[in-house]
Amino acid sequence: MASTVTEGRILIAGAGIGGLSAGIALARDGTPVQVLEREKAHSTDGAGIQLGPNATRILGDWGVLERLGSKAVISEGIAIGDGLTGEHLATVPFGEVARQRYGAPFILVHRHDLHQALVETARDLPGVEITMDCEVMAYRQSSDEIVLTTTKEEIRGHALIAADGLWSRLRPQIDPGAALLFTGQTAWRTLVSPGDLPEHLRGPRTGLWLGRGAHLVHYPVKGGMKINVVAVTEERRGGKTEGWNQEADPQSLLSCFEAWDDSIADIVRSGAGWRKWSLYYQPPLRAWTQGLVTVAGDAAHPVLPFLAQGGALAIEDAAVLVRVLREFDGDPTHAFRQFERVRIGRASRTGFESRRMGRIYHMGGVLRLARNFVLRRQSPEALLKKLDWLYLFGGDER
Ligand SMILES: Cc1cc2nc3c(=O)[nH]c(=O)nc-3n(C[C@H](O)[C@H](O)[C@H](O)COP(=O)(O)OP(=O)(O)OC[C@H]3O[C@@H](n4cnc5c(N)ncnc54)[C@H](O)[C@@H]3O)c2cc1C
Repeated sequence: MASTVTEGRILIAGAGIGGLSAGIALARDGTPVQVLEREKAHSTDGAGIQLGPNATRILGDWGVLERLGSKAVISEGIAIGDGLTGEHLATVPFGEVARQRYGAPFILVHRHDLHQALVETARDLPGVEITMDCEVMAYRQSSDEIVLTTTKEEIRGHALIAADGLWSRLRPQIDPGAALLFTGQTAWRTLVSPGDLPEHLRGPRTGLWLGRGAHLVHYPVKGGMKINVVAVTEERRGGKTEGWNQEADPQSLLSCFEAWDDSIADIVRSGAGWRKWSLYYQPPLRAWTQGLVTVAGDAAHPVLPFLAQGGALAIEDAAVLVRVLREFDGDPTHAFRQFERVRIGRASRTGFESRRMGRIYHMGGVLRLARNFVLRRQSPEALLKKLDWLYLFGGDER
């Protein structure tokens, strides 16, 4: 059975950060959207997310920041240290400095809270329909219509944005050669209580501890009630896992932190209920678009988490999609090609820099000593300046 098509309706596969953002951006611009999500309920996976000013500026315009209210912690900065010695090396200042420089804050938020704020914002907009428990299996298209095969029914629309994440089912229809490559790295996450951290590590900021073949990040979420802890280790032997939520035996994690400074290793020891997932790298796609279809978010350009930018890029995508659709008078074929043209450079640079950061975070031996030497000499202003290209995004790159 096929649904009737609402005039000009754009279909969005996936109600993650990218799909909901695209839905909000388009509906705010007067375009009706239907967002199709395969899960029965909205995801609570993944614990914490850090969002820089490039993303929060857009979320602010949509009213999502206001909705998040005090659930979002305004970050004062990133404190970078050597996890093996516990030595503080450098600080990237955010707080009022970031607000002045970038016009928007750097926030630390639980994914569930962000998701809820996005869903509520989308639901309050006229023209947004969110259909849960509806997996998109495939699409076919003519010159002016998209037909989706889903687990519920056939659904018709004017265009399709495939925001179905890292393991996108729709991406191979656009680029059959697309492949995800295991990086050999495993990410681990848990939530701890603020009391599990030594007093000097408890503030409203991110702690980034660099080690040999591993690093550890912690920051407050849920308005400071919980601390999100993420460790990344090199664990080729551990095998690959799909998804974000596999139960993890902490023994192999703890063994990576045995030689670390006790105040940092204790954070790992205090964690319970660890979840783990494998990190993948995707070489750039040959194409993002095909006629009335485009990929967006992780389906288009997954990036490793070392610059904390995957979700932010998905939010930026949404803002740019609206701009190009307006530019081409709602013609998706031309607008999507332009979308790919303007986004590919930024997504590739972010992906490249994220991988580079991962290598720097995990340096050992003399390279580690050289890295620490350089970091100790960086002024907060110099560190921030290096991030301007990331956080000053205005949505109008050509
Ligand atoms: C360790 C780690 C830490 C991270 N930290 C940060 C951070 O601090 N800051 C940041 O900006 N980013 C971060 N990211 C990245 C960020 O989480 C992702 O980039 C972001 O979630 C991408 O959004 P998305 O909507 O493209 O994909 P997803 O959020 O994965 O959403 C995809 C949605 O599509 C649904 N779906 C899948 N297939 C189908 C289908 N066939 N039909 C219908 N629905 C479907 C899924 O159920 C899901 O709801 C991190 C990632 C990792 C791994």
